Amino acid sequence: MAEPSAVEQRWLQAARDFARRALPARQGPGGPEPPPLEAVLRCLRSAGGGDLPLSYSFISISDLQHQQCTPCCSHLTWSTNEFKEWAHQGQGALPMQSALPRTYLILVGYLTDGRQENKEKLVDGSLYVKDSTGIIPCELLHFELEWLESLFLFPSWSYIPQTDQSAAGYVEILVDPVPVNLPKEVPDSIPVTYLASAEPLLTSRIPCKKRSKLTVAGELARLGPLLCIHHKTFFFLFLKYLTSAVWVPVLVQKPNQLAWHHILQLGHRYTITGLSMSSLKKSRQRMFVTGVSSCLLPYCAEQVREQPLDSAWQGESTQSSSIETAEQLSDSLELGVEEERPGSTKESKIISYVGTVTKILNVQAGLFLLDNKVCLCLAYQQLLNSARGLRPGACVELIDVHLLQKPLVSFPFIVLGACLSSTVVLKNFSRLSTPYQPPASSGNLYLQLLFRYNLGMPLYLWLVSLLETFEERFSCFFGRRRLLLSSIHRNPGAAEKFLVPLLQAVVPDREEARDIYNEILGKIHQCPLQKYLTLNPPCQAPSLSAVCRVAEEKSWEGFSPSQLLSPLEAQHMGTQELNRRLAWSYCTLSAGSFQPRLILLGVLRVSSRSSSLQLQDKSSTLPCVISHKDGSPFAHTALIGSLLQVESYQLVVERFLQTDFPSWEQLANLEHMREKKTSVYVQFYFEDVRVLHAAEGQIQKGLRSGKSFSLRKKDDGSVTSELETPEAKMLKLEDPKPDTHRDENCQKGQSSTRRTSCVSCLFLVTQKEGLMLRNYQLPSKEDGGQELQRSFQATVLWLGRPRLWSHSRESGNLPELEETSCDGEEGMTQQEALLLFMGKSLRWFPFLHLGGLYRFIVPHCSDLEVFDKLCFPPVPAKFLSKSSCPLCLPVQDTWHLQHETWISSLTEHQLAARSVLRGVDQRISSIPEVLSNSFTGSLVSFSGEIVERTLCASPKNEKPSVTLGLQKQKGRLLASDHSVKLSISVAPGSPVVVDIYIAATYLQHLWGLLPGAKIFFQNLERKISRFHNVYCTYIASSCVTIVSLPASHLPFPSSPAGEASSPSLVFLSNVQPHLQHLPQARILCHLSCVLTLSLQWVCSLCSSIFKEGRCTRQSPPCPSHTGVRQANARVLVEDGTGEALVLCRNQHVAAMLGLSLLEWEALQKCVQSRGRVSIQHGEATGTGCVEEPEDLIACYLRSLCRSPLICRPILLDFSLDRKPSKILQPAPLQLRNFRCGEVEFVSQVRPWRSLLCLNVEEVEQEALSYLNNQRIRRTSSHCRVGATA
Ligand SMILES: [Zn+2]
Ligand SMILES: [Zn+2]
Repeated sequence: MAEPSAVEQRWLQAARDFARRALPARQGPGGPEPPPLEAVLRCLRSAGGGDLPLSYSFISISDLQHQQCTPCCSHLTWSTNEFKEWAHQGQGALPMQSALPRTYLILVGYLTDGRQENKEKLVDGSLYVKDSTGIIPCELLHFELEWLESLFLFPSWSYIPQTDQSAAGYVEILVDPVPVNLPKEVPDSIPVTYLASAEPLLTSRIPCKKRSKLTVAGELARLGPLLCIHHKTFFFLFLKYLTSAVWVPVLVQKPNQLAWHHILQLGHRYTITGLSMSSLKKSRQRMFVTGVSSCLLPYCAEQVREQPLDSAWQGESTQSSSIETAEQLSDSLELGVEEERPGSTKESKIISYVGTVTKILNVQAGLFLLDNKVCLCLAYQQLLNSARGLRPGACVELIDVHLLQKPLVSFPFIVLGACLSSTVVLKNFSRLSTPYQPPASSGNLYLQLLFRYNLGMPLYLWLVSLLETFEERFSCFFGRRRLLLSSIHRNPGAAEKFLVPLLQAVVPDREEARDIYNEILGKIHQCPLQKYLTLNPPCQAPSLSAVCRVAEEKSWEGFSPSQLLSPLEAQHMGTQELNRRLAWSYCTLSAGSFQPRLILLGVLRVSSRSSSLQLQDKSSTLPCVISHKDGSPFAHTALIGSLLQVESYQLVVERFLQTDFPSWEQLANLEHMREKKTSVYVQFYFEDVRVLHAAEGQIQKGLRSGKSFSLRKKDDGSVTSELETPEAKMLKLEDPKPDTHRDENCQKGQSSTRRTSCVSCLFLVTQKEGLMLRNYQLPSKEDGGQELQRSFQATVLWLGRPRLWSHSRESGNLPELEETSCDGEEGMTQQEALLLFMGKSLRWFPFLHLGGLYRFIVPHCSDLEVFDKLCFPPVPAKFLSKSSCPLCLPVQDTWHLQHETWISSLTEHQLAARSVLRGVDQRISSIPEVLSNSFTGSLVSFSGEIVERTLCASPKNEKPSVTLGLQKQKGRLLASDHSVKLSISVAPGSPVVVDIYIAATYLQHLWGLLPGAKIFFQNLERKISRFHNVYCTYIASSCVTIVSLPASHLPFPSSPAGEASSPSLVFLSNVQPHLQHLPQARILCHLSCVLTLSLQWVCSLCSSIFKEGRCTRQSPPCPSHTGVRQANARVLVEDGTGEALVLCRNQHVAAMLGLSLLEWEALQKCVQSRGRVSIQHGEATGTGCVEEPEDLIACYLRSLCRSPLICRPILLDFSLDRKPSKILQPAPLQLRNFRCGEVEFVSQVRPWRSLLCLNVEEVEQEALSYLNNQRIRRTSSHCRVGATA
């Protein structure tokens, strides 16, 4: 042999180094084996035709795992062309994927099934390649038992690293390995095999005590998947007797036999020795079980003589033949959506299929896409073989899998489900550079829930879709692992908390646990995949961006502007009013408004930019309003950062429309809708919230103590009880690595926060003002002080001195208050301060409420003077009289606010402190107090329910100039010259109503102002109108708190409120001046006469008279072509107790005159050419109308009004006309004459009360007598009351 070249010498040196490191001499059975390098080199030479592969280098297992980060392959003997050809063929199914890149590495190692490794490692049927540097799982398409523990050279292999860099990948062995040493001595005499004697089989109904070992030979008819139950791994195989159709099941369960699973090939013949008989307790199914000494041998006809089995076995052949009906998938696909009978249970077909993996749909869930058209589900086979080899590009053969068409409405693929009697064989490795995604090594929630609830395919696919979305939305907040943690770690993760109740609702308890033995062995095949019903998912939890999109779509679905207006009103509206009434509307959606029912999930956040609460996920945010059912405001600062689930909520879509409808007649013409905008938010009660994952921020320990958080306690309780359900019968999944890390970390984190000190100080909020732009000049930034800053402020009372505070302290303890009660009232330091919230601290706006006791926590601080040092006087010291003016304290961004309790819920022994603080809630008034004439004070706070919400033109003199900046920040939704009128009543149906005007600019951050909602208004400005009516306006220091949400069963939300019940019947004499805010009442009265009546057409733009299709305005000429009809009348009514003047408008005029709709239409048409017709009763004065005696219509109307038919009893719904000031002004009593029979009386009467007509009803004779009776009874009781008074 020639002297090796320098190159070769260097190569040999490297080889020797490698061998020393990775392949030291091993102790063989007969003394130490020779160092393997020489043998390896011999092997390489023979493979390379005598030459050493100098362009290749050795790689140890450890280097492969740690240095190779991308998939690669190595082919020791291949030419470049051979490789190209191979790679090209592999791209057939997925031409877009690149082939595995070629490396020039020599892999040498021992094949093992892991049994000699450290004890902890489970021998689970996997095979490995190892050298002394490491061990790596491998997959082979062909394997021989005698290869185990032998040293091999692998001429052709691929290495597939795991996508997650932290763990190792695996090796795909493409070509049979070459043994480095001479093949082991194969025992040339197969051990004597004993025939399966018939006797024990026949008597096997009684468990045979005589442990006779049997040998069974046959053709492998079926190979079950590896299963792991109660930490025991096993599999079943079925041998078919050669002379009969009988299949016998063999349970292979010894760890060192699990590697058989890699050898066994369907259709091949085998002999298995050392078997014993066993039968299942429940079903009495009999099977062979391998023993420690059992061997798997190739079948050799000479050595085995077969004996017929007993008839019991014969019977089982039926099962096998029924399953054998293999069918071509293509045929089934052609059938397509053949029998789509909704609601009928479908039977899945059992088929066989060969296909190429084209996509991994979800490796955790065991879902793979084959040939871009069918989904393979391996979940029911439990272990998924760690999904090794199942990369895109790999070819699999499926035998006896279930074909399910459309198991889930929303699932796009046909599904092939492999159950425990299906066989999945990897036919070819992928030649593509596709990554390996291993299923979670521990706690695969998909599979755990599948087995715990024994889900069928439709429910499983639904579960997968829910879980996938959940993971996608929230793993960026909490991390995947924590989210998907399963209950085997005692502490179920958020995903499990979310899914378990949903599954419990759809899977009835009586559903049997999966009987895996019956599924594998049963005479008649039974498995969860056999029958299925196309599932319409019962609920959904889509991303927040999808929620908003769908809600917006729904809010415009079937929308037409005419819905927002009653046609009777709309036809009399001018352009401006009409379009204003359309400008703002809303609709509310509940979970059930969506199909399927929509569950809201989100992380509770608070935005310092908008100062609002929001739910958040990866896709979007959704502003939210949270209230308590008991009316207390929401202040749970501890909930920030928690993952919430809400199923009972009101999703509110506010619609903003820019329209230019000339009049109501064009409402159908949608061209006049110029712009549509929406804003979506959600409101719900705290009590309807489920916390799926509590925030564990530094300060959030309040949650852990659970003292102030009963909700979570309850929640946990239900979860624990659910864990305690007996799971003995259920198939438990293996969890090789219990996840203990996390808990340790958690505790570590806790103890470390325990050590950090903070300073805290307790305070009581005595006043809170709204968000606005203020020009604070902070002492620290004197130069930039001119800029307006968005801010809010609150007046607070410090309770006690600041103190060092550690998180381990029990929450709910308020030592500051305890001290006070000991020391007496004098000991309490009572100091007022004005807190300024700007910048990031604006996030506390939704949490800070009047009457709340809060604590500021200054983290990482031990300076007890910290608050004092930051305080500064609000005005320069020289103007300051110190006693009256509280110090300003700008709240720092890093401070944390923690809500402790409410002043109203302080305990007995804290009452001493409470008495110190008395007077805080005296500033809250009631609506009658606010309305009363004796009320003094300009700022008012009160609560009440919104009766009606209307958009109106802003009063010209109240332009909110300060807030213009706010308006710029957000997209303008309402025109700034608009304002909103809220009519607020004390309680639903209560007659006392006060109006609040809020300029549009303030509305941008006011959520939840909807009819039916109960609101607490603070610091509104009380005003008195020209007509001496009291109303309130929302000013810069005002603020609102939602006390309760509107009832969800509201009528059509856009329709005007107040039609709930018919108003109460009253007497005119009872209509007292102090009831001026009465919204509505009803009288039975007699129409005495019509004083004035006027019908006109007015221009929709300028309200001038509109005549013959033109506006009559001359200077400047008006371009309008649209006229609106209007009518009004004043009539006099009396009910025996008094008289009143009733103002009627539009359609009420027709009702008052007793005209039918047709007559009224005709009459108005006649007015169209005249522009205006009006008449007045002879006695009326001062109305300014001029009669036109020659006009026919005027004549008709005059005679109508004078006709005795008009003077009739009517039921009149009215409200007091608030405009005429006469009501409030004491008018002199008038003297009037009354005649009763012969006698004439002179009596003092009050001036006419002025009423606004709301509705006129004719009274039938019967109703009249009934009502009169009622009146008489009430009059008499009224008189009695009057007499006693
Ligand atoms: Zn099945
Ligand atoms: Zn006009």
